[in-house]
Amino acid sequence: MKAMPPVFRFAPSPNGHLHLGHAYSALLNFDRACETGGRLLLRIEDIDAARCRPEYEVAIEEDLAWLGMAWETPVRRQSEHLSDYRAALEKLSALGLVYPAFESRAEIARLVAAREADGPWPRDPDGAPLYPGDARSLSADQRSRLIESGTPYALRLDMMAACRRVAGVTWNELGEGPDGAHGIVPARPEAWGDVILARKETPTSYHLSVVVDDALQGISEVVRGQDLFHATSVHRLLQALLGLPEPAYRHHVLIRDGEGRKLSKSSLSTGLRELRKAGASPASVRRLVGLNQVSLGVSKTPP
Ligand code: GLU
Repeated sequence: MKAMPPVFRFAPSPNGHLHLGHAYSALLNFDRACETGGRLLLRIEDIDAARCRPEYEVAIEEDLAWLGMAWETPVRRQSEHLSDYRAALEKLSALGLVYPAFESRAEIARLVAAREADGPWPRDPDGAPLYPGDARSLSADQRSRLIESGTPYALRLDMMAACRRVAGVTWNELGEGPDGAHGIVPARPEAWGDVILARKETPTSYHLSVVVDDALQGISEVVRGQDLFHATSVHRLLQALLGLPEPAYRHHVLIRDGEGRKLSKSSLSTGLRELRKAGASPASVRRLVGLNQVSLGVSKTPP
């Protein structure tokens, strides 16, 4: 039987223009697809309706094409697949792993400050305080009263219960974590606390939709920046809970500015559009991010 070709994806959020860091990630995916005879997909991660704009999506496609990349169509746009994420959420709810939490951001900040009076409150790998509330222990009655009264809520994963259900989750790291981790890496999702899986107004979250999409699109190797290395622990946990296949992960170093800071969508000096206006060529962008050879291209249609 012929082996299935590997499947890669570049998954930007259309909330700004692409910069050199995106170019590096996108080109690494493209080059991996070329060198392995694999497929490359583009996925638009636009669940945050307040920040994402269609004109950024158009600009992303233009910039990637200018870099010399090609990808399969149709492009998956997350905002068009909310029912897929809702179905995954229902599955997790049916396992008794999801609960509504009614605190506003301001209330959460107050709770953290109160807890910090007794010493440091734990933070997640991104530096945000873990959920400090106790909505997990509200009674069914209290929950329905709050929901009926229209109080907004987020749906959170009961992390301890989830970890008890699927212990010993790992992943295969083909690249390297910020601390050099490589090979079989143990997932530590508990470091994230009770993460948000959905909000009242958006029936999904980054973690949930990325996991559902990677499975639905048959992604076999996730190539992305080291800033998402620790999030992989949550992704692997969700995959295990939902019975989804496990892709390999290849986290790459981040391109930084002259002061060693991570690039942001507003750092104009490293924006692809600005570089292009200033006369840069796709080959010079490759050189700037440390990728020398130019790929020969990848077929637009699946083999
Ligand atoms: N949409 C995410 C971002 O733009 C990337 C998601 C991923 O590669 O898993 O940072």
